[in-house]
Amino acid sequence: MTATPITVVRGDGIGPEIMEASLRVLEAAGAELDIEEVVAGESLYLSGNKAGIDDNLWESVRRTGILYKAPLTTPQGGGFKSVNVTIRKTLGLFANVRPCRALAPFVATKHPEMDLVIVRENEEDLYGGIEHQQTHEVVQCLKLMSRPGTERICRFAFEYARANGRKRVDCFTKDNIMKRTDGMFRKIFEEIAAEYPDIETGHQIIDIATARLADTPEDFDIIVLPNLYGDILSDVAAQICGSVGLAGSANLGEHASMFEAIHGSAPTIAGQGIANPSGLLMAGVQMLVHIGQGAIGEKIHNAWLRALEDGCRTGDVHGASDADPLGTLDFAQAIIDRLGQEPQHLAPVRYAAEARMEIPPAPRYEPKKRELLGVDVFTFWDAETRDPAVLAGQLKTAEDAGLALEMITNRGQTVWPSGAPETFCTDHWRCRFRDPSGGVIEAPQVFDLLHRLHGAGVDVIKTEHLYAFDGTPAFSVGQGQAAHKSA
Ligand code: NAD
Repeated sequence: MTATPITVVRGDGIGPEIMEASLRVLEAAGAELDIEEVVAGESLYLSGNKAGIDDNLWESVRRTGILYKAPLTTPQGGGFKSVNVTIRKTLGLFANVRPCRALAPFVATKHPEMDLVIVRENEEDLYGGIEHQQTHEVVQCLKLMSRPGTERICRFAFEYARANGRKRVDCFTKDNIMKRTDGMFRKIFEEIAAEYPDIETGHQIIDIATARLADTPEDFDIIVLPNLYGDILSDVAAQICGSVGLAGSANLGEHASMFEAIHGSAPTIAGQGIANPSGLLMAGVQMLVHIGQGAIGEKIHNAWLRALEDGCRTGDVHGASDADPLGTLDFAQAIIDRLGQEPQHLAPVRYAAEARMEIPPAPRYEPKKRELLGVDVFTFWDAETRDPAVLAGQLKTAEDAGLALEMITNRGQTVWPSGAPETFCTDHWRCRFRDPSGGVIEAPQVFDLLHRLHGAGVDVIKTEHLYAFDGTPAFSVGQGQAAHKSA
């Protein structure tokens, strides 16, 4: 077998210890790897590179396409962006795959039947880092989700289910509240699900679904989620499964992939030789399956299960064994000693025959017919009264025959023309202007309106155009506003 080139980052905190342990196991198992080591994270940051990442990493990963990475510390304060997030987004690693399988009674858990995989969208949603303070009182974070990004992660979840003999894919969103963003995710999930009739599917609202996941995780098989929910639920799932220290994750993209433990650099136990290498080792197993060395991954995974059954454990894992905990390298040696053995109580894993999973490319679509129906003008208005009728009077002086004030909302709640006196109002107002007959308008009308608003003393802080796509209005109505009043 030809050795597969991979890039290795030993990382910060406990990173070097658990990477050393993991590489020893991979080597002893016969993994054919051609390793290029690069430095990233805190050590690079402390040597003067304020980004914590440099061209050596990008060049190496462009050569190898595979990054095996120990945890990196994000230095506190001072505008430093998470290197982990930078790597995921720069390399387009859109799919984050986190298997969580209970290992009871060898690892204590209240959910001994749990065996699920979280498939998290890894690039979009609230993780764009697009945040602004707009007024003295209001800040915003943009939740951006794309149709290709959503279709791709949903298709990936179904392809992963087929490739791994899984029977069911569930999707959780909050589409009852976020009808455009989460609503699109759910709609696309259901469209893609129809192409996989051999797989059972379901959608649930994220809040009750999370409660059910925490209560009866054995009811779930694969769960596909937008980024933020996936981030939270994958830690919940790992924790109730036994320990966040045991779980690995694959971050997969079209051009590159990264494999890492789900935990961080645990600086408080760094250098003591007691950290659990399991999460990084299991990520290494995912990497071996991904690069076509599934037989070696299977050998390692089964030896690890056998070591746990035999009572070998690091100090963070509690289960049936009351044997003294092993240090990081001794635990790795216990796995090496069992290579070729299979677990006797837990079900062994089978990866040997698995073909490498194809990564679906991002789809392109025919553009729809797009028409401009109006504009939401966001204004800063801090008058003593905060009476929306007073603001409306000022805004109406800028109306013309083609654009009239339709509504004002405050934090999404309609406060004009109807509203409740109890509604708390901040200094941030959304003011919707549309053609009074509901027709299509031209872009220059918006610019003229902004000019007149400025002349009327209105402090415009941002605008959002209101579009229809293929004749269907595609923007939210004000909360508390009757739906027939707007789109
Ligand atoms: P953490 O995961 O490092 O630690 C949380 C707790 O779990 C600590 O008590 C720690 O001792 C324990 N723990 C974690 N991994 C362990 C292991 N392998 N063996 C035994 N115990 C283990 O989370 P944190 O303390 O919030 O973050 C520390 C640093 O890690 C921060 O700088 C954070 O930004 C970074 N981080 C990096 C990644 C990554 O590289 N992907 C992920 C999360 C956090």
